[in-house]
Amino acid sequence: MNEWIKTETELDGLRESGKRLAAVTDELCLMAKPGVTTGEIGIRAEELIRGKGGIPVFKGYGAEWGTPFPAAVCVSVNEEVVHGIPSPDRVLREGDLLKIDIGMRFQGMVTDMARTLPIGTVSADATRLIEAAKDSLDRGISKIRSGARLSDFASAVESRVRRDGFSVVRDLVGHGVGRELHEDPQIPNYFFKGMENFSFRKGMAVALEPMVNMGHFAVRVADDGWTYVTKDGSLSAHFEDTVIVTERGTEIVTRFQ
Ligand code: MG
Repeated sequence: MNEWIKTETELDGLRESGKRLAAVTDELCLMAKPGVTTGEIGIRAEELIRGKGGIPVFKGYGAEWGTPFPAAVCVSVNEEVVHGIPSPDRVLREGDLLKIDIGMRFQGMVTDMARTLPIGTVSADATRLIEAAKDSLDRGISKIRSGARLSDFASAVESRVRRDGFSVVRDLVGHGVGRELHEDPQIPNYFFKGMENFSFRKGMAVALEPMVNMGHFAVRVADDGWTYVTKDGSLSAHFEDTVIVTERGTEIVTRFQ
């Protein structure tokens, strides 16, 4: 567990990496309009990351075990949950739900974040879904401090999501982050027995990322080998932030403080 605790130098790197990534994401969110292609968002994401002196860690990810992810950002639409591949053929339309998931390395340190955005006007249910996903992440984060249990986080996320009749994806979870994109421990967003035995510790850095489905929580991988979609075709929303655990709470490094 001690290997999960970051040094002060690493934490400073995470802060700087997160600040720059948040600025990149802010710019990308401005592109969330009808007529824009997800391919354009992909190209812009890489330009922005490199413009900040960063390295797009998603690009080439997974080469050790299969087809590497081809872009700097995951762009997923509607029933696509995560890991959507940007494409010049995928045009955003009024009423779509857009998810931008992006990571970068700066000063050796990786940060990871995601946002869900409505394209133009979306249905009232879709708006509620976005709000539930965002709020569930905030409520989960509010439970974290040094010594807080993993179950405190997961229960807070899950109960907020279920209050609106939505479900939390189980096959994909949050993770430690910093030296690499995906580090231990895994951080599930739903409660199961035994998880109360794990506690957060000061100096840990974690990427917390509830994925919330309007229907059933089951997901499957689409034919492209990357994109996760809901099994029942229902809409999905996703928010993620990179967070440093402190003595009394957290520091969210991928949001403007
Ligand atoms: Mg992540």
